[in-house]
Amino acid sequence: SIPLGYFGGIGRAARDGILVKGSNFLDALSRAAIVAFDKTGTLTKGVFKVTKIETRNGFSEDEILRFAALAEAHSNHPIAKAIREAYGEEINEAEIKEYEEIAGHGVRAKIDGVEVMVGNDRLLHRFNIEHDTCRVKGTVAHVVINGKYAGYIIISDEIKDDAPLAVKELKRLGIKKVVMVTGDNRDVAEEIARQIGLDGFYAELLPEDKVKVIEELEKEKAPNEKIVFVGDGINDAPVLARADVGVAMGALGSDAAIETADVVIMDDKPSKLPRGIRIARKTQRIVW
Ligand code: ADP
Ligand code: MG
Repeated sequence: SIPLGYFGGIGRAARDGILVKGSNFLDALSRAAIVAFDKTGTLTKGVFKVTKIETRNGFSEDEILRFAALAEAHSNHPIAKAIREAYGEEINEAEIKEYEEIAGHGVRAKIDGVEVMVGNDRLLHRFNIEHDTCRVKGTVAHVVINGKYAGYIIISDEIKDDAPLAVKELKRLGIKKVVMVTGDNRDVAEEIARQIGLDGFYAELLPEDKVKVIEELEKEKAPNEKIVFVGDGINDAPVLARADVGVAMGALGSDAAIETADVVIMDDKPSKLPRGIRIARKTQRIVW
């Protein structure tokens, strides 16, 4: 039987917009020792804006933006949305052929017979395209037109207002390690980790690499301690399922993530995690 105190704890958390899907997860939250956050949509707002376009090999900004926007026409990734918004024109889908999205890399498509690729270093490496390795404060989407490097688009996201507070509170609660896992580049990850006050970060990860990081972190905890992963569910559903406690952002997150998660934060504020841990610990003291 479930001690009555748990219902009180689950109710208390729910009133704060933290949905805990069972007493076992409230119990696990109270034992949290390591916390891993996803970056995009979790620690950052997930609202990207194009801030700069750099051209190469004689291509123009307009060409890069148009080809990139068409190639990204079918993608749900926040990067794709930012590029389409910057382009601003109506997209004629009949022009797009052979569209392919490669998770953690980018997209490829044929636009009016022109081969276009948009994505990160890893994507270009995969197709042996020589390009700039840029150290910029922002996410970089390289653009390749007919096999030629055409330049890059810089897309910037913003840190959520309460992200630094969330980390501070977690440390105050004695959480041993607070880290970030991201598919984004090392420079962006490093800058965000510094600004938020994280203990560390893992960058340039593919969705399956994020699961491996959780497995590595497991070796650093005592048997009764728990690992919490917080994500928005875009490319991180496997990690949500793998962690002891998978926490999903409910407002921005995907339906699949809300389904898979053990805990849902309704207003997407990372500071709700320390709040939930506090409630869980208090409940534990009442129950036992
Ligand atoms: P995260 O949520 O941690 O940023 P993702 O797995 O969603 O990680 O994406 C990882 C990286 O893959 C992105 O930072 C980007 O460089 C590249 N990428 C993924 N999808 C696209 C896309 N549609 N267009 C351009 N780049 C993409
Ligand atoms: Mg993500």
